[in-house]
Parts: sequence; structure tokens; C-alpha cells
Amino acid sequence: MSEMRWDPVLEEWVITATNRHNRTFLPPKDYCPLCPTIPGVAPTEVPSADYEIAVFENKFPSMRAVPPTPVVEGTDVYRVKPAQGLCEVVLYSARHEGSLTDLSVAQITRLIYVWADRYEELGSLDFVDYVFIFENKGEVIGVTVPHPHGQIYAFPFIPPRIQRELEAGRRYVERTGRCLFCDIVREEMADGRRLVAHSESFVAFVPFSAHYPYELHVYARDHKLSLSDFDSRQRIDLARILKVVLTKFDNLWGFPFPYIMVMHQKPTDGGSHDSYHFHIEFYPPHRARDKLKYPAGTEVGGGVFVNDTLPEEKAEELRQVEPRS
Ligand SMILES: [Zn+2]
Ligand SMILES: [Zn+2]
Ligand SMILES: [Zn+2]
Repeated sequence: MSEMRWDPVLEEWVITATNRHNRTFLPPKDYCPLCPTIPGVAPTEVPSADYEIAVFENKFPSMRAVPPTPVVEGTDVYRVKPAQGLCEVVLYSARHEGSLTDLSVAQITRLIYVWADRYEELGSLDFVDYVFIFENKGEVIGVTVPHPHGQIYAFPFIPPRIQRELEAGRRYVERTGRCLFCDIVREEMADGRRLVAHSESFVAFVPFSAHYPYELHVYARDHKLSLSDFDSRQRIDLARILKVVLTKFDNLWGFPFPYIMVMHQKPTDGGSHDSYHFHIEFYPPHRARDKLKYPAGTEVGGGVFVNDTLPEEKAEELRQVEPRS
């Protein structure tokens, strides 16, 4: 069962998804539902002997194109809507071992084409206002299947965090006539203390007001709104910078670095959103090799993050790490 319940106090939707409780937990090593199907062995999610990149609908979706009727009726205070949307899984590689970090630049480039394709196709559906591309990596984030993969949620609304960024961008343009995100790129390039890597088309930096110690953002250097705006050269450039920052993450402590990766780009609700700007955000949960940052009292209850590290120092630390595997 799943439905959207309106939180009238925070003014945001919560999706109930009660079919997700029986999700697969770490399966035995010999069976992976995301590996190619080996003839004669139990079929997996991919009914073929090999693949480069595969996309399929999540078996335990929190949203569906034809959603079930909500289990409760809404009231004036408590609005309820069917959870109409789509949830897809993107398999980065047929190889079970490794992660996004270990893929070749050519394979990451292919993935960027797949992401752009899904962004365009899902975004063209009339009930989809936002195509949210993301990856949760690592057991500490709650990932139950280690096979390298990411996810896509096609939401029937613009997520509140993106709504906030859109509004900030709009107000900044009204005030200055310039794109807020282009100004951030300019400021980071000029200052340099928070830079981790940069190329012709992209820049990776620890944000000035990072919420997490190893938070890292990758911005397009030109004013681009979505993956669809990048040409073939820029897509290869994006693959290259992702490979560099991910390798740095893994080399930092010599183990696969857990993170939450989210792609922020133009909503697909039909609005123009010209003051938005393509970027990718990484939220690694580690604050040290053996310590995690748990959002707690001030973060969860107040929305105030306390970061006990300096973004300039964390950027310096990441700059020093070898970008080679
Ligand atoms: Zn696998
Ligand atoms: Zn811009
Ligand atoms: Zn953002």
C-alpha cells in the first residue's frame, strides 16, 4: 500500500509505503537479484545473460503510475492523495563487484546518457513534476543489495528542498540579475580554498556552508539547467570529474566510501525555471574513518546543522588524496 499524506505543519508530502517492510536483506553471496540471469539458475531482475546498463521498475515502489486508492480518507486538515509516480532502479554494470567509482570513464559516460534518457522520458509524463536521480551507497546508508546501482523517483510534485533552492535562485535573480549558482561557481573558482577538482565544464567543491564534513557538490560551470543541456563532450567531462571525486573518496581511508548522491536539475512540471542550475550533491555520512555523523536534536528537530569541521580543511584533505585507483 502507498499514499501521499500532507503534513500541514511542515507543508510537505509524506509517502507511506507499507509494502517495503519485506525488502530483501543482504542475500547470500551466490544469488544477486541484480546480476544477469545465468541459464538454469533462478532468474534475476534482468532476464538476459549480460547487459551494459539496465533500468527496470522497482519491485517495491513507493509510487506507481496507477496508484492504489489511499487507505484513509482525507479531511480539510489532513489531505491525502494517491501516490502517483514511478520508481526505477538503474544498474550501473553487469559486474557484481565494485561500485560507480570502479567503472571506466566510458561506462560512466554511458550511464550519464541513460540518466538523461530517463530524465527526459519520465519527465515527459504528465503526472511527473520532478525526476529525482539518486544513489545510496553503503550498508551504513541502509543499502540491502551491494550490486552497483542507483535509483530514480519520478515525483508528482517538486520535492521541498528543491523548491527551496528554486525560490532562492529566483529571489537572487530578482535582486542581482544574475544566477545564484553561476555566482557560487565564480566565487569558488576565485577563492579556491574549498575546491577539490575542476575541469573545463565542471567544478567540485566542499560547499561554504557544508552541512556534513565531507559534503561535496559538483556544479556545471556554464549555466545549464539539466542533463539534456549537455553535449557529448560535456557528458564525458562530467564522467571524468565524477570518477576523480569518487576515487578520492575511496582513497581517503582505503575503503569504499559510503554516500548519498542526489542530482538537482530543472523540474519537469512545465515551468521555465531559468534561474535554476544543474548540480550533483554528495552527502557522505562519515565524519571520521570510524565515526558517523547522525543528524540529531538540532538537525532533526530544528533544521540547524552543526558541522564540527571546517569546509576549507576538508577540501584541502580531499585535494591531497590521489585521484587514481
Ligand atoms: Zn549482482
Ligand atoms: Zn547558472
Ligand atoms: Zn541542490
